[in-house]
Amino acid sequence: MHPNAFTYTASPSRVVFGAGSLQHLEREIDLLGARRALVLCTPPQRAQAEQVLALLGTRAIGIYDQAVMHVPIETARAASDDARQRGADCAVAIGGGSTTGLGKAIALESGMPILAIPTTYAGSEMTPIYGLTEGGVKRTGRDPRVLPRTVIYDPELTLSLPVALSVTSGINAIAHAAEGLYAQDANPIMSLMAEEGIRALAAGLPRIVADPRDIEARADCLYGAWLCGTVLGNVGMALHHKLCHTLGGSFNLPHAETHTVVLPHAIAYNALAAPLAMQRIARALGRDDAAVGLFELARTNGAPTSLREIGMPADQLDRAADLAAANPYWNPRPIERDAIRALLQRAFDGAAPAGSLPAP
Ligand code: NAD
Repeated sequence: MHPNAFTYTASPSRVVFGAGSLQHLEREIDLLGARRALVLCTPPQRAQAEQVLALLGTRAIGIYDQAVMHVPIETARAASDDARQRGADCAVAIGGGSTTGLGKAIALESGMPILAIPTTYAGSEMTPIYGLTEGGVKRTGRDPRVLPRTVIYDPELTLSLPVALSVTSGINAIAHAAEGLYAQDANPIMSLMAEEGIRALAAGLPRIVADPRDIEARADCLYGAWLCGTVLGNVGMALHHKLCHTLGGSFNLPHAETHTVVLPHAIAYNALAAPLAMQRIARALGRDDAAVGLFELARTNGAPTSLREIGMPADQLDRAADLAAANPYWNPRPIERDAIRALLQRAFDGAAPAGSLPAP
C-alpha cells in the first residue's frame, strides 16, 4: 500500500456559522422536520435557554435545565423520561460539552435528532462519541445516532464564556487537532482542518484575554473549535486523550484545565516519533517548537500549567502512570511506563515540556 493512502468518511452534519446566526433557529428546526423541541441546558445557562425557547415559539415544548458534567446515567434517564413524557421530537442543546453530552444520551435512547448550539470550544457537537457515567465510571462509545444533525455556531453566545474557561477550552480544542495530525488514521482533509483550527485558536485566544467582548476574536476561536471538533470526530486520538481521560475519570480533575496542562507534555513525548505533525503544529502556532509553543500559549494567557494547581494528589502519580500504561493503545511512540511517569511529574510540577529532546 502507498504510504500516503487513506480513507476519509465525511460526517453528515449541517453547520450554520456566524455572529447572529441564532436567528436561523426556527428555519433549522423546520428543516429537521421537528415540531416539539425540548431545550437542554445547565442550571447557570437557563437564561440562554429561555432565549432559545422564545425564538422557537410554538415549536418548543419546554426546558430541561439539569445538564451536569460527565453525563451521570441518572441525569440521562431523567432527561429521556422527561422528553418522552412531553412528546419531544427533537433536542436543542445550548451549552458546552456537558449539555451536548446530555443531548447525545437522549438521542442514543430515542434516536431523536439533536440541534446543538455550542457555547464553549469543547467540540463534542461534531463527534459521534458519547460518554455516560455510572457508579463513578465513565464509559464512552461511538454511535452515528448521537452526532448532532445541525449545529448553529453563534459567536455572540460565547461572549459570556469567562476568560479563564475560554483559554482552557480553546486549548482543549487544540488538543484534538494536535493529536489528529499524528493519528494512525490521519487523512489530508483532517490535517488541513487541524492546522487551520490550531492557527485560528492560537491567534484568537490572546485577543479574547485582552478583550473578552472582541466579537472577531470570539468568531475566530469558535471557527477553530469547529475545525478541531471535526478532527476529533473523524480520526483516532492517542496518548494525550488517554492521559486526560485517566486523570479526569480516576482523579476527578476538571476537563478543559487537565487538557491544557497535559498537552505540551504529551506532544513533547511524541515529538521525535511524529516530526511532520510537530512541524505543522509549530507552524500553526507561529513558533519554532510545537510543545514549547503550546506551553507558552497556556502560560502567557494565564492558564494553569501544573497538575498540582488543578487538584492532582502528589501521591497518585504512580497510579496514574500505571493506569495510563495499562491498556495498550496506538500512539506514534510506544507507551513506556517510566517515561509516562516522568511526563506526569513534569506536568505535576508545571515544568516546561521536554521539548523535542528525547525523554529522560
Ligand atoms: P461544560 O459543558 O461542563 O461547561 C462548563 C461550565 O461553563 C458550565 O457550567 C456551563 O454552563 C458554562 N458555560 C458554557 N458556556 C458558557 C457561556 N458561553 N457563558 C457562560 N457560561 C458558560 O464544559 P466543556 O469543557 O464545554 O465540556 C466538557 C465535557 O464535555 C466533558 O464531560 C467532556 O468529556 C465532554 N466532551 C465530550 C466530547 C465528545 O466528543 N463526546 C468532546 C469534548 C468534550
